Amino acid sequence: MPPSPKLRKLLLIDDDERQEHLLQLLLAKFRREHFDLEYVSSYEAGLKKLASGNYAVCLLDYHLGERNGLELLREARIAGCDTPVFILTAEDSDELDNAAMEAGAVDYLVKSALNPRLLERSIRYALKLGDTLAQLRQLAQRDELTKLLNRREFSRILNEEWDRSARFQRPFTLVMVDIDFFKKINDTHGHQAGDEVLRHVASLLSGQVRTVDRVARYGGEEFALVMIETDCRNAAEHIRRLGLLLADLPCIVADKDLTIEVTLSAGVADSQQGATSATELVEMADKALYAAKKGGRNRIVTADGTVIPFK
Ligand code: GH3
Ligand code: MG
Ligand code: MG
Repeated sequence: MPPSPKLRKLLLIDDDERQEHLLQLLLAKFRREHFDLEYVSSYEAGLKKLASGNYAVCLLDYHLGERNGLELLREARIAGCDTPVFILTAEDSDELDNAAMEAGAVDYLVKSALNPRLLERSIRYALKLGDTLAQLRQLAQRDELTKLLNRREFSRILNEEWDRSARFQRPFTLVMVDIDFFKKINDTHGHQAGDEVLRHVASLLSGQVRTVDRVARYGGEEFALVMIETDCRNAAEHIRRLGLLLADLPCIVADKDLTIEVTLSAGVADSQQGATSATELVEMADKALYAAKKGGRNRIVTADGTVIPFK
């Protein structure tokens, strides 16, 4: 697969403007790789660009005016940035070597020792390492069938969101969604058609939420959503529209020439409805989901007992 164009950009953050020219000269001598260089000289601008995640690799000067590159790197990592970063330094030092690694750099490079071969090789290794780490993350955090977050990763995010919401007194909503009579779909059309239905529902769920919201496969045919800055009522309305969309878009299993109608039941609870922990919030949403099933399925029930049919 050819690398995406955005990944061919290299970011240089250095308060010495001459470094840009020197780096351009090195890049021009690369044998295999081609990178476009973007250059910024200040800490703030550098942090913003690095945190955007739009670069294949970043070369980060150690001395940046009053502050240093390691601080910048730590801030970027906290903001969730996983771009490979090399620390550039004027001199070799074991102390810096350790500190750079601690801060999350892939390596440090001594400016005076840089040459095109060394730099190209270092970048290639960093990119390879980045790919491998991304694959490992995918394996550890995602469900294989639907590619949604898996339950473990979802629970981690839910706990994090619970703490954030408690600290800032901001609401968020947990939605538990379960496919109705899924066993019957399996029994009637076979397990593979069942899998197709799971993928269909998963792609609809993840396609219809904002990027800040998170969607997981919670168990067999059960999904969970965390909707940030949203209360129970708004979340329920969003899920209702999603259910109507699903009614219009049945799952089509092309190779079996099948159209499978799917309905959902959902339980909705927000962080300001009395739960005192993330675990309690899950219990509340679960209870609401159970009520939706018991009440006849194809509906949403909220933690305060409101019933909203999908029809
Ligand atoms: P309800 O309306 O009460 O939710 O009934 P249901 O049939 O949807 O729920 P039930 O829990 O009885 O059955 C769920 C079925 O989902 C049982 C299990 O075999 C099936 N299942 C779980 N994981 C998978 C999967 O990955 N693929 C397929 N095809 N089926 C799965
Ligand atoms: Mg079910
Ligand atoms: Mg179930």
